Amino acid sequence: MIPREKIDEIRESADIVDFISGYVQLKKKGRNLFGLCPFHIEKTPSFSVNQEKQIFHCFGCGEGGNIYTFIMKIEKLSFGEAIELLADKLRIPIKKVTSKTGIKKQNLYNINETAAIWFNNNLVSGKFASNVQKYLKNRGISGKVIDDFTIGYAPDRWDGLIKYFSKDRGDINFLEKAGLVIKGDKGYYDRFRNRIIFPIRNEFGKIVGFGGRKYSDDDPGGKYVNSPETEIYNKSKILYGLFEAKNKIKEKKNVIIVEGYIDLISLYMEGFCNVVAPLGTSLTNEQGKSLSRFVNKAVMIFDADEAGLKATIRAGEILIENNIDIDVVVMPKGEDPDSFIKKFGAKEFEKLLDKRISLLDFWADLYNNKYETIIEKTDFINLILSFLSNIADGIKRGYLINKLSDLLRINTTELQNKSNKLIKRKRINHKEYVMNKYDEDEELLRLFFTDVDTKNIMLKEFKLDMITNERIKKIFELIFRFYEEGRILDAAEIMDNIEDEELRKYLSGVIFKQFNISKETNKMTEERPQADIAYRMILGKKREIIRKEINRIRIKLKTETENMDVLRSYNDLLNKKKEIDNIIDEMK
Ligand SMILES: [Zn+2]
Repeated sequence: MIPREKIDEIRESADIVDFISGYVQLKKKGRNLFGLCPFHIEKTPSFSVNQEKQIFHCFGCGEGGNIYTFIMKIEKLSFGEAIELLADKLRIPIKKVTSKTGIKKQNLYNINETAAIWFNNNLVSGKFASNVQKYLKNRGISGKVIDDFTIGYAPDRWDGLIKYFSKDRGDINFLEKAGLVIKGDKGYYDRFRNRIIFPIRNEFGKIVGFGGRKYSDDDPGGKYVNSPETEIYNKSKILYGLFEAKNKIKEKKNVIIVEGYIDLISLYMEGFCNVVAPLGTSLTNEQGKSLSRFVNKAVMIFDADEAGLKATIRAGEILIENNIDIDVVVMPKGEDPDSFIKKFGAKEFEKLLDKRISLLDFWADLYNNKYETIIEKTDFINLILSFLSNIADGIKRGYLINKLSDLLRINTTELQNKSNKLIKRKRINHKEYVMNKYDEDEELLRLFFTDVDTKNIMLKEFKLDMITNERIKKIFELIFRFYEEGRILDAAEIMDNIEDEELRKYLSGVIFKQFNISKETNKMTEERPQADIAYRMILGKKREIIRKEINRIRIKLKTETENMDVLRSYNDLLNKKKEIDNIIDEMK
């Protein structure tokens, strides 16, 4: 773990505007800088950065935080990795104290690595593996591919891996956390039994999980057994083969996307090495994003069945959103890349690739040949237009719509109008997000981060029971807790201490709301210092609490007319209220 002082030091030595400018073109507009959001597709800038407070917020998608948040989001890093990246950039050396979660993750990687080597040894030199070896040989899976992907074999035993690890190589708890063993009624047993094992690596080459495929039809189990999601394995984020293929992808400036890892391995053996595969899901936005860092052209290869079709349509949407140009190859009926290349060889597969069509042609083909009724056709057009309205570049979008109108033989203006409507609808949503209603608690939080005097007054006078907005209360709880430890957090600093992502986004939104419709704030810009405004608002809240208390006691007094204690506290309250009224009057 990196000590807190170091985290602060690094954050404070950096400038969020400098850093973000490396990714987003920022233009000054009023107190803030604006640019096109890197986290969602948009046409007009709603991504804003505040240099003074060192935070950012997007009014379109709600993303927000400090420089670390930005690095984590854009580079897909953990908090610790984001700090390291920034420290590295600024040439600030850091001494690390390993954190508990760091240890845990590292343990899981180590266990997976060890398990992968064991699986691989079982396959290469195992005495029980002769059937598997034969099977793989028949399928042409040879030494080099087995090495490159560390393919292995899990023997037909309930405790093979457990026995191996029990020889002082690890803790059964970690094996369970890595998803390698399962806890049953009679104790633990191996998840992968009698399966060919394909280790799944993340983009950086670390093994995060395993896919197990059966090789014998005699085996009663399912065709595939896969690792569950673990602390280090999130299916929707990992693309199988990306680590092994990324250099080839960059070199060829093109990536081939297939449905499963068996397809990928078969293509790899025949020399197609720029291939990736999502893991049992259709392509996700996260996967699209990580691809877009390496390449802007993709060929999608999908099976000619209904599932393949759906996956292709969805992947098209995702790749468009991530600015990747797409061609489509639909496999001949009943074939997948694996079966095809086995039967017909690399040359025929190359021919198939040459016959690829653009995504637009693919859509047109569906429109003209697959969808028959008017309802089906209109639904499909609406779907496509909603994809296209995510393209930020107006020229590109216009070009695609023109082409589509040619292909579908639909009037261009008609399509254009519809697309404009969709875009407008998106913009209206975004406006609603900005023009939130005035909320006094939000305003107070915003003022808190605006200057030192305000901060000091609020730390003295403001109390949690004055807050009605639950989210604001949570944030102030944090502020007060740190204050008790002698720390006064600033806007950028507090972001590091909010783990709840939604709350962090909300906070950045609130802080950026200054050009919103607050009456008090408008007055402030004329003549009154912010601290006064905040103080008045706090007094108003205090008075409100006292007023409620007075009402409560008044009711009590009706029945307990003789109770001197109640009468006394009633008078006390009336005096307190009067005091506050006087101060407020003087302030006017
Ligand atoms: Zn955004």
